[in-house]
Amino acid sequence: MSDYDAIVIGAGVIGAATALALSRKNLRVLVLDKGAEAGHGSTAGSCAIIRPYYSTLDGCALAYESHFYWNDWEAFLGVPDERGLARYVNCGCTVMKTPGNGHLKRAMELMDAIDCPYQDWDAETLLDRLPWLSTQSYFPPKSQDDPAFGEPNGETLPGAVFFEAGGYVTDPALSTHNLMRAAEAAGAEFRFRAQVTEIPGDGQIEGVIANGNETIRAPIVVNVAGPHSDKINQMAGVTHDMTIRTRALRHEVAHVPAPPDPSFAEKATVFSDSDTSAYTRPERGEFMLIGSEDPDCDVPQWVDPDEFDRDFTDQWTTLVMRAGQRVPTLGVPSQARGVVELYDVSDDWIPIYDKSSRPGYFMAIGTSGNQFKNAPVAGEMMAALILACRDGHDHDADPVTFDLKHTGRSIDLSFYSRNRTINPDSSMSVLG
Ligand SMILES: Cc1cc2nc3c(=O)[nH]c(=O)nc-3n(C[C@H](O)[C@H](O)[C@H](O)COP(=O)(O)OP(=O)(O)OC[C@H]3O[C@@H](n4cnc5c(N)ncnc54)[C@H](O)[C@@H]3O)c2cc1C
Repeated sequence: MSDYDAIVIGAGVIGAATALALSRKNLRVLVLDKGAEAGHGSTAGSCAIIRPYYSTLDGCALAYESHFYWNDWEAFLGVPDERGLARYVNCGCTVMKTPGNGHLKRAMELMDAIDCPYQDWDAETLLDRLPWLSTQSYFPPKSQDDPAFGEPNGETLPGAVFFEAGGYVTDPALSTHNLMRAAEAAGAEFRFRAQVTEIPGDGQIEGVIANGNETIRAPIVVNVAGPHSDKINQMAGVTHDMTIRTRALRHEVAHVPAPPDPSFAEKATVFSDSDTSAYTRPERGEFMLIGSEDPDCDVPQWVDPDEFDRDFTDQWTTLVMRAGQRVPTLGVPSQARGVVELYDVSDDWIPIYDKSSRPGYFMAIGTSGNQFKNAPVAGEMMAALILACRDGHDHDADPVTFDLKHTGRSIDLSFYSRNRTINPDSSMSVLG
């Protein structure tokens, strides 16, 4: 009696990747999105940075694996897109060594454990490779109203670690469109301006109601609604057994002219700096994006995803000025440009890729500002989990494992469980 084998709620990068993976397993998949286009939710605002360093072994393993998917995007998709394909700029990522991150000793141990290459740079090498930087320390990060804001503390930083398996994807919304086209080629259907308004019943999933009046039947529903994830979970009545919940966090990203260094276009990498608490990446057309690493002095802006301020605030200026501490030639433009978007943050900043208490209801949520990169692998991981549960596997009692085909490791999916305890190794920030 079902119209489809599975309904995916949300056509963001992770929803589209999940639809692709399920369709490739021969499920009849329908993706519903209340928006007008694929990837036009929080994915569109993503900095789309690809990097292998996370705070946990599994986090690093999954992220390193994702590099290989983006590196061979065309082959992974297997079909063309009339809009063209998103491009992975594999420029690498440089992370400052600071006392606060233990001079990245743990990060290098994690890279060794997953066989991921990196280079340990002293300050001289760092300034040779990225000559527009300063190595002065400003720690701890401060808010603009602190009289010491922008004052160096007299120390200098000893260098950085460079991770080759990283960079950024040129257009996150286009990459989602690419995934949609691949999913359609595998049989999936996408419907836009179709808002899920009800998930009826309280036992086995039977389907959803769209736009208040249309019943669509399927025995599997996957919540990939990004910052709306908790609202969808409440609709499904599945929050009672979840120890980890999700909520929407407002963030601004600044888009500014790149520093006026003639070697910037050739040499720039993704750059992460916990000393000033700003991360940057090059953007085409000699621009740079600046995002925040959520220092303790910044008050988090938890919001209702249906009601938040899309205008820039002081957060934007603070970001640009923090980046300017590390890049002294960076100007502060008079006109704010960039994006204002939402992270879907879990309680420990690690996503939930899991089943639920309701048979047939799954979730790929809590992506915490750091899971764009993992979307193609997360889609396949979700498909493996969903099929195992459909075939009677008790994932809560005996967690499904997922093999990473490029890097050869296995991930125990209880790492992403909805009812885990807070992971003590997490950075509790966008770094994951
Ligand atoms: C500012 C910013 C910077 C980021 N930078 C990075 C980065 O550099 N690297 C990285 O790896 N990650 C980054 N991320 C995180 C990454 O972009 C997200 O994890 C990812 O895009 C989430 O994709 P998604 O498909 O889960 O959600 P979304 O893209 O938000 O998609 C969810 C979809 O669900 C739809 N929806 C919601 N409710 C309903 C409903 N009731 N019915 C139907 N449809 C519904 C929405 O319209 C939306 O299209 C960043 C995120 C932000 C916001």
